[in-house]
Amino acid sequence: MATGKKKHNSSGGILGTILILCIVTVCAVAVGKSMLGAPQENPDTSHGVQASQTDTDSDSTSESVSTSSATDSASAGQTSSEGTTDTATEESSSASTDTESSDPSDKSDFVSSNKTDSFDKDAWYMLLANPDHPVPDGYTFEQATIYSAGRNWVMDARCAEEMKAMIAAAKEDGVELILCSTYRTIETQTKNFNNKVKEYMNKGYSEEDAKKVTATIIAVPGTSEHHTGMAADIVTPSYQRLNAGFDQTDAYKWLEAHCAEYGYVLRYRKDKTEITKIIYEPWHYRYVGKEAATIMMNEKLSFEEFLEKYGT
Ligand SMILES: [Zn+2]
Repeated sequence: MATGKKKHNSSGGILGTILILCIVTVCAVAVGKSMLGAPQENPDTSHGVQASQTDTDSDSTSESVSTSSATDSASAGQTSSEGTTDTATEESSSASTDTESSDPSDKSDFVSSNKTDSFDKDAWYMLLANPDHPVPDGYTFEQATIYSAGRNWVMDARCAEEMKAMIAAAKEDGVELILCSTYRTIETQTKNFNNKVKEYMNKGYSEEDAKKVTATIIAVPGTSEHHTGMAADIVTPSYQRLNAGFDQTDAYKWLEAHCAEYGYVLRYRKDKTEITKIIYEPWHYRYVGKEAATIMMNEKLSFEEFLEKYGT
């Protein structure tokens, strides 16, 4: 359970300014090839999990970064459990919870309004959030909470029921899925980012270099898919680390086989890091609606590729 750990990554980083140090956790994910320009961990951050990371992210190539990521991983491991958790907590507490009230018709919208070969990029479930497409200013959505691993997690009410259904279905099959990070505010992401910069500066990096390195590990605030309320990091009791090793678990295998049935997709594939700019994250799932999810999973497409091919 959890200790929250967070990780993020993102691309370039300009943020900056005040670095406040609070416990952050970053599930460090090692990333890409060079400190810059490499795939980053997504905004994933808060994982109420034990992020022992260091991800393996094998593929993620980590050369120059590996050092740093290794470092952070270490620090992530020791970081308090509070950091992350809190954030999440504070967010979830403010959640509205109305899952029950969510109108089922919402979910069928995409089914009826989309043809299999074309998807409206403006549909709410097609919202793209990545290093090049920050979440729109003031983006809001109706929140709902999902109880998992001893606490409530906030997600967009329009896809929260599907997440609950997916978790329940897995349970029926003997697989326990637990949430470790869902909706994250930009404020939380900013705090995490700044804490990480501070950490590097304490190690002797200049502010500029500290920001560059941080951007490869933590999503620049505003660009994390967790800001959309449609993304969730999912683990299982026997393996709560956010690293590539998660793909060896029964939980991952179940998710890979069934997530599309609930409208979710494996968002950051191992072989798509050049496109997503985010490291391989077998624990991160994003809601896109059942039809799009089915296509994306069948064709093994990243969301970016899907929008390019099917978006209108
Ligand atoms: Zn994530």
